[in-house]
Amino acid sequence: MDGRSPASAGRKDLVGLSRAALQAEMAAMGAEPFRARQLWHWIYNRGATDFATMTTLSKAFRAGLAERYVVGRPAVARALVSVDGTRKWLLRFVDGQEAECVHIPEEDRGTLCVSSQVGCTLTCSFCHTGTQRLVRNLAAAEIVGQVMLARDALGEWPSPQDDRQLTNIVLMGMGEPLFNYENVAAALKIVMDHEGLSLSRRKITLSTSGVVPMIRRCGEELAVNLAISLHAVTDELRDVLVPINRKYPLAELLDACRSYPGASNARRITFEYVMLNGINDSPAEARQLVRLLAGIPAKVNLIPFNPWPGAPYERSRDAAIREFADIVNAAGYSSPVRTPRGEDIMAACGQLKSDSVRKRRSERLAAPVVEAEAP
Ligand code: SAH
Ligand code: SF4
Repeated sequence: MDGRSPASAGRKDLVGLSRAALQAEMAAMGAEPFRARQLWHWIYNRGATDFATMTTLSKAFRAGLAERYVVGRPAVARALVSVDGTRKWLLRFVDGQEAECVHIPEEDRGTLCVSSQVGCTLTCSFCHTGTQRLVRNLAAAEIVGQVMLARDALGEWPSPQDDRQLTNIVLMGMGEPLFNYENVAAALKIVMDHEGLSLSRRKITLSTSGVVPMIRRCGEELAVNLAISLHAVTDELRDVLVPINRKYPLAELLDACRSYPGASNARRITFEYVMLNGINDSPAEARQLVRLLAGIPAKVNLIPFNPWPGAPYERSRDAAIREFADIVNAAGYSSPVRTPRGEDIMAACGQLKSDSVRKRRSERLAAPVVEAEAP
């Protein structure tokens, strides 16, 4: 399954190439442009990973492809299923780095939470990902690969038109997507392509901690839904919770939201607000939030804090969350409280990976052998 295992060394992965790049590869092999279109269909509509199964292509051409290329998938280091149906994959890439990906099934839809980086360079004080030292950008192939792997696991090939279990994508896994914009954009363009994975931009939400200079570009080029990790209503507190606020303070962030291309009452910007007991959950802060959002087509997503070992915060009391939600709701903003999902498999941001790293470290301590990396 793992197209990028050592056995494929030297062969290039076709996943993650744009249509134009795929066409250029095929042209270099002497193939007509329509061959590239057929190949695109096999890879992204049919989910084929073995050239031998691509029966619309001639045998000789398939053999030529197999000599030069692979259609890869990230390797799965661990796969977990929660009692509530949430699935989580810890992916291991060729360099041994890991990132995670979560599928959350709901009655009428299913959302895939995708990572954009290994770790995160930002250090939001409530976020476990921010405590991880190793950071690198994920390549476009590694981002698209998460969606394709989920499709494999859900049995959703060829790309179904209706009744999909994977209907929505949120870039809310590990990493700050607007710090890896080029690769995220390349990946999302592939994911949105009508002849392939075919997920509408209306079903894709990019979450950012507030990389203000990239927000407009994201709206103009990708036109996906935007979510902002707000979490505080004063610069003083946001500087601590979401330190990028020191560079791009609230006023600038909210200005960028006001002019986000495509935002309208039909397509609102989501403001994520993690509920931290006694820190940011007072009624006065709910009222201030309403004032800040004036003039922005907004909805608010209240996220009960997901605790992790050693975290300096605790989850707000249910009553505080309810009162906060009521104030925001009464002002005319939808303010659903996100139900914690997959808690038994640590489906919150960054937790499975750290658990795995911890385990491997303790295993190494117990038995001083070099652990072989799974392919
Ligand atoms: N870096 C991006 C996207 C990934 S984080 C961003 O910050 O927006 C996705 C969401 O999960 C963010 O709103 C983030 O603030 C939130 N989050 C992170 N750790 C959390 C935790 N322990 N409990 C609840 N929400 C958390
Ligand atoms: Fe990075 Fe987002 Fe976590 Fe902040 S909340 S550390 S930006 S992943």
